[in-house]
Amino acid sequence: MPIDATQRYDDDNIFAKILRSEIPSTKVYEDDHAYAFEDINPQAEIHTLVIPKGRYVSWDDFSAHASAEEIAGFVRAVGEVARMKGLVEPGYRMMANIGAHGGQEVPHLHVHIFGGQPLGPMIAN
Ligand code: AMP
Repeated sequence: MPIDATQRYDDDNIFAKILRSEIPSTKVYEDDHAYAFEDINPQAEIHTLVIPKGRYVSWDDFSAHASAEEIAGFVRAVGEVARMKGLVEPGYRMMANIGAHGGQEVPHLHVHIFGGQPLGPMIAN
């Protein structure tokens, strides 16, 4: 079920548990502001998730309330993960689902990084 992007942060969401190492994840990258790990149900050859370490439900929450340092750190982390995965030259796609129409399922902001193959049209018909 898609979430409401305006809901309060839920400390029991699955990505909060991953950040606290209460459930396992396949780590790709970590710094002070961000954590990246492999999506458990990949939709492309490469499908990696990047999340901020702060308690932000969605892109809306993050863009409105995160500090400039958190925002800069997170944006740099997304770029760094794409570079680490060798995706810059062949190209890649990054995506964040927000709320009901976006189909957001996990109420902790995450950017999807897709790559490793041609990715087709931007939105499925
Ligand atoms: P979204 O629909 O944008 O909220 O995407 C949620 C993503 O989280 C999906 O692509 C799921 O496959 C992924 N996901 C859910 N649980 C886990 C998990 N425990 N480890 C890694 N990825 C997960």
